Amino acid sequence: MKKNDIIRLTITSATAEGSGVGKTEDNMAVFVPMSAVGDELSVRIVKVKKTYAFGKIEEIISPSDSRISPDCPYFSKCGGCVWRHISYENELEVKAQKVRDAVERIGGIHTVFQPIMGSEKNNRYRNKAQLPLGRAKDRRLLMGFYAFHSHRIIDCDDCALQPEVFRTVMEVTRSFVQKTGADIYDEATGKGRLRHLYIRLGEVTDELMVCYVINGNGLKQEDLLIKMLREALPNLKTVVFNSNREKTNVILGRKNRVAYGNGVISDMLCGLRFKISPFSFWQINRSQAERLYEKAREYANLKGDEVLLDLYCGTGTIGLSMARDCGKLIGVEIIEDAVRDAEENAAINGVENARFICADASEAAEQLRNEGVRPDVVILDPPRKGCGEALVKTIRGMAPHRVVYVSCDPATLARDLKYFDENGYQTEEVTPCDMFPRTAHVETVVLLRRKNAR
Ligand code: SAH
Repeated sequence: MKKNDIIRLTITSATAEGSGVGKTEDNMAVFVPMSAVGDELSVRIVKVKKTYAFGKIEEIISPSDSRISPDCPYFSKCGGCVWRHISYENELEVKAQKVRDAVERIGGIHTVFQPIMGSEKNNRYRNKAQLPLGRAKDRRLLMGFYAFHSHRIIDCDDCALQPEVFRTVMEVTRSFVQKTGADIYDEATGKGRLRHLYIRLGEVTDELMVCYVINGNGLKQEDLLIKMLREALPNLKTVVFNSNREKTNVILGRKNRVAYGNGVISDMLCGLRFKISPFSFWQINRSQAERLYEKAREYANLKGDEVLLDLYCGTGTIGLSMARDCGKLIGVEIIEDAVRDAEENAAINGVENARFICADASEAAEQLRNEGVRPDVVILDPPRKGCGEALVKTIRGMAPHRVVYVSCDPATLARDLKYFDENGYQTEEVTPCDMFPRTAHVETVVLLRRKNAR
């Protein structure tokens, strides 16, 4: 097989990253993006490796029953969604299978798998958008999303994952740029000013934050921009200019200047109120986060007087949602701003039994263990790289009855479950949870129990 060969292929499985997979007669796996299990395809080979290859759909000879027609004109161009060509039910099956495969094959763990928790909304569920701006060769304004694995901006008017109101913010921004000829940032040269449009919406409170990331301090005719935003957006709460002069892929710089309102919005989660600044971590799919936390709470099974340790706590949301059910809450988080937010969030909600530590989870856990802290329940919500073996060993030393592991990466979760298994903790139950419909991501909540505990 070589590049540009055209082959006939039946798609028999799917990767959770959004490719269909078919096998050739000589047992070579061919990965084909945007294909569906059951498709009969004519495929053009684009890259050949030793035991597998990548192809592109040349023609759909006979479509799979699970195919639907994608409801977004940017699908296949923009790097956001990978599953708009199959039904949501099918997507959930693929995601549940990915979690199960990882836990069983990588972790060697055989346990109870609950059905995947699908998201109530599978469109318009995001409360945050970060849209890069640029200029095309013909100087046309580009604003939208990057293409897959690239920094090429795909110009979009709307995104099906975002609330409708973001579309209006995009329109106003476009019209402001056209009216004033605003200076747009160029990634290649590092010149120009306006880099990103960043929008956040409180889903329950309906409070809207609009933030512009500027290579410099501000924009010419900011007053006009704010006037245009206020006229078009009755729920506009605040406008912030963020200054980022670095030549970097990191979107936000460290400095914010509030141009309208007070620089923050708030929203509700599990009956608690949280303050959200441009820098705060906040769950993207709020209502599904409530369901995820509800599952974590069920697994934590608190009775009222326990010590709860919430590692990788971010702005404290998971732990705070359970603070009333335990005696004492200790949260650990490495980002200073997030710890400050967590403390403030505790105060806003009248939570008095919480303490937050700014440190690496593993080091803090070790220190707490040395101080003789013995949590009854430990919650872990690490970033993609997982928690690792050292932390698992430290947790064993603290001997909690239960560990609730919230994961955004099935592979590192599976590895960590294996470490837990080797260190006296049995995986009791796994529940996959879809926080990001139509994208390649899947989260999982897991209950672990100390092996000799009752
Ligand atoms: N539990 C929170 C946030 C989870 S995101 C929520 O549900 O909202 C993971 C968090 O882990 C991030 O806030 C990140 O800053 C933090 N983090 C990353 N590495 C860490 C480390 N080594 N020690 C402690 N926290 C870390």
